[in-house]
Amino acid sequence: MTPELLDIRRIYVEPAAAELPRGTAVLARFPDAQLVEVQSHQRIPELYGDETNVRRWVRIKREALVLGVKKTLTARPNGRSADFIAPSTANGCAMACAYCYVPRHKGYSNPITVFANIDRITGYLARHAGQQGTKPAPNECDPHAWVYDIGENSDCSVDARISDNVRDLVELFRGLPNAKASFATKHVNTDLLGWDPRGRTRIRFSLMPARDAKILDIRTSPIEQRIAAIDDFVAAGYEVHVNLSPVVVRDGWLDDWAALLEALDAGIGPAARAQLAAEVIFLTHNRDLHEVNLGWHPKAEELLWRPQLQQPKRSQNGSWNVRYRTGAKGGYVAALLDLIAARTPYLHVRYAF
Ligand code: SF4
Repeated sequence: MTPELLDIRRIYVEPAAAELPRGTAVLARFPDAQLVEVQSHQRIPELYGDETNVRRWVRIKREALVLGVKKTLTARPNGRSADFIAPSTANGCAMACAYCYVPRHKGYSNPITVFANIDRITGYLARHAGQQGTKPAPNECDPHAWVYDIGENSDCSVDARISDNVRDLVELFRGLPNAKASFATKHVNTDLLGWDPRGRTRIRFSLMPARDAKILDIRTSPIEQRIAAIDDFVAAGYEVHVNLSPVVVRDGWLDDWAALLEALDAGIGPAARAQLAAEVIFLTHNRDLHEVNLGWHPKAEELLWRPQLQQPKRSQNGSWNVRYRTGAKGGYVAALLDLIAARTPYLHVRYAF
């Protein structure tokens, strides 16, 4: 991996995290990094302020790491992409997608925080899955297994470059008879190919037309690399799905999605096709994020902020989200589903909204 993405120079560390074996291992991985003791991984003003200084964010994303202890462990019911959202073993991200909602909790530089109490988290998950028993009926998450999303607040493929937390989760789920891990990713990390997941971890490579990705998916692996990785990950024992997201409506969008589906079809073999499924998620944007993006990446906002096409909706945390207008959106979803049925008929769509 190039130091362009990660080149850790400074680690903000909670003392309790440094004492745990995973904390020690992370610190040993970056022996030259300067250590800064912090009382809480959530309150580090020098990392989280300065909302429009993008050059500073990118430097922080590349050079800073936070090592903390995850205090509250819960598995939140979800029911759409996964049955449950697992407690995070990391949050924050070294990449910088213009539509990303992950920074909402931590300010926009949003560097990776790794949680060192992985044993507590894996123990919690094993107990939680044990309490669920056998899945009573198939649903769109999975026909048999309870699915736990392990990457809601970070990108696990990048997290795996920092610590063994993701590997521990993959190995945990390998041994759980009734449960499966799942995470979406925009980064190809071939280290994961050696972990022998035995079908109990689902990787969802996120895809969008390269024309959109070039403007929106900043610091991620190129789309053609993600498609090219699918067969390798299937051969290595992962279940591989695709997240067709976010779908951005603009002039020519359907033509570019057709080209993307053709590239997907040409890029994968029979084994991948036999198990492939997709989530289709149309763009949700956010007014505050729009304001921030205008300060550093207005070109992205030409794609993301389309008031003529969108309607506002207040989110649970009180901020304003925008989505494509209800009447028109059904037509967009139907058009993309028709395209999928025509170009990649084997691609089962688990849900689309
Ligand atoms: S890869 Fe995911 S978590 Fe990282 S910036 Fe992009 S959308 Fe956000």
